[in-house]
Amino acid sequence: MKMSKLFNKTLREFPNDADAMSHKLLVRAGFIKKLANGIYTYMPLAQRVLNKISNIVRDEMNLSGAQELLMPFVQPAEVWKKSGRWNVYGKELLRCNDRHDNEMCLAPTHEEVITSTVADTITSYKDLPINVYQIQTKFRDEIRPRFGLLRGREFIMKDAYSFHTSQADLEREYEVMAQTYTNIFKRCGLDTKAVQSDSGAIGGNVSHEYMVLTDTMVGENDVFYCQSCDYSANSNHAISFLNVENVDGGFEKEEIVDTPNTKTIDDLAKFLNVKPNCILKAVAYIADSKPVVAMIRGDKEIEETKLMNAVGALEIRPMEDSEIVEYLNSSAGFISYRNVDKSKVKVLFDKSAKGMKNFVLGADIKDKHIVGANLEDNIEFVDISLVKEGELCPICKKPLKVTRGIEVGNIFQLGTKYSKAMNACYTDENGELKPYIMGCYGIGVSRTMAAAIEKYHDDFGIIWPVAIAPYHVDVVPVDINDKDQMETAQKIYDALNSLKIEAVLDDRDYRAGVKFKDADLIGFPIRITVGKSISEGLVEFKLRKDNKDKMVKITPTDAIEKCKQMVLNQI
Ligand code: ATP
Ligand code: MG
Repeated sequence: MKMSKLFNKTLREFPNDADAMSHKLLVRAGFIKKLANGIYTYMPLAQRVLNKISNIVRDEMNLSGAQELLMPFVQPAEVWKKSGRWNVYGKELLRCNDRHDNEMCLAPTHEEVITSTVADTITSYKDLPINVYQIQTKFRDEIRPRFGLLRGREFIMKDAYSFHTSQADLEREYEVMAQTYTNIFKRCGLDTKAVQSDSGAIGGNVSHEYMVLTDTMVGENDVFYCQSCDYSANSNHAISFLNVENVDGGFEKEEIVDTPNTKTIDDLAKFLNVKPNCILKAVAYIADSKPVVAMIRGDKEIEETKLMNAVGALEIRPMEDSEIVEYLNSSAGFISYRNVDKSKVKVLFDKSAKGMKNFVLGADIKDKHIVGANLEDNIEFVDISLVKEGELCPICKKPLKVTRGIEVGNIFQLGTKYSKAMNACYTDENGELKPYIMGCYGIGVSRTMAAAIEKYHDDFGIIWPVAIAPYHVDVVPVDINDKDQMETAQKIYDALNSLKIEAVLDDRDYRAGVKFKDADLIGFPIRITVGKSISEGLVEFKLRKDNKDKMVKITPTDAIEKCKQMVLNQI
């Protein structure tokens, strides 16, 4: 590709509506153009990267035995009604009506369509298992599209679905996919960590997310991990080993005491001269329009995804002060669980409350607490708390660390959630109808492109891993009006092309500095500069990942050979 012909213009400045580095760089280097919030055109350079990621995904998925298909992006409401998700998916599902007034939607995911397609095709256990996948556009009307391609509304996903006759066979395939995912991301030049996660609206039990770990805020997930063993989990799923022995407030008898001006747990702990873990805190929520009170030890916080799962809610928000009066007949900051009408209000106890003795509890009266309280005998405890860094690993009891992660893929054991709802069955060996046991496996293809940039960039631009770079080599003649330089550059470019090494020839009549700047911004892994040294038969060979002065002067033949090796070894 001649740079003069490339449909791309780099910008002098970063866009001012971008926070994430990948977003800034993708726009400035000309990879993407915004059409609307969360909706972008992938320009030729981006499309090349996406194709490379997609081809790696294809390669590895095909190797695993999965088969590629392509399902409709525009879908009728019927399949969604059949699975029961038409009414629960919420506003992320963009709905519209066709000219005959049929309800339709833009696909945010494809469980419904694949389940009905498989049910239409496979009736016997003899044809199972299967695993099918596609690489396709999805649309989700995300509440907060942000960070460019990291959380778009329209984005590209690889989604795979597997169908089995037993849980054991699903688990076998799950392991195959886990290995396939590790291979895919590795080939893309990305280190990922597979962390345990919450299965959310998709359903099912076991799931893992593939995280690119970053220190930046654009990693939207907190990942807890143990440095001594393998344990790692998304914050919405992480657990820690909590010592619940001997958490004793030391109060000798239960009584109500005045606790004025104690707005926070810390204020209250100081005022009563106890540790925060001797206070049983109540946090009140509205979950799908129903009141919920969550009781948790004072030094811990509620993890809202866990809470949503525990009560089976899709949406959750803190109660307002007026609702605390209305539903709980209590006062914000002084809530107990003892006086609520349990037929109307759900009360949950976090595991951290187990073992608390003679503790402090709200008295349901403003400025008053109960001290020396104890829990009733028949309480059930659930895990609804957020892990904190430094708490102990649930497996080996060493302190946990936390970092940010970008989720580039995930794998789920779905079970029979969709097949049961949609009555999608096969006949088993005994002629009985059984629902398929399913798994699903996603990769954010466009998000992976952005995650690679989050991981690999510097002050000057993107540093593409060779395997997913839009082009491998940028051949830059310093002065295009110099006949020798231009001829050599053209020769190198032609030689690279004939070796199927993807090269760009920067034949623009610009100052060399401008061309170097663009080369760094766009992030070609290799730059070959043809300048004055050509009089000695030498060109400059430089890797994007090395700093400025680390260039070598070599012959064009050696430069081509080096390119060949790098592309061959993908480094
Ligand atoms: P998230 O928690 O980030 O919203 P998700 O759990 O909704 O992700 P899935 O529905 O399982 O994700 O989709 C599979 C993959 O698609 C994700 O692992 C992620 O890489 C990608 N993905 C999901 N939502 C988006 C989005 N809005 N923009 C870009 N990629 C996305
Ligand atoms: Mg999502």
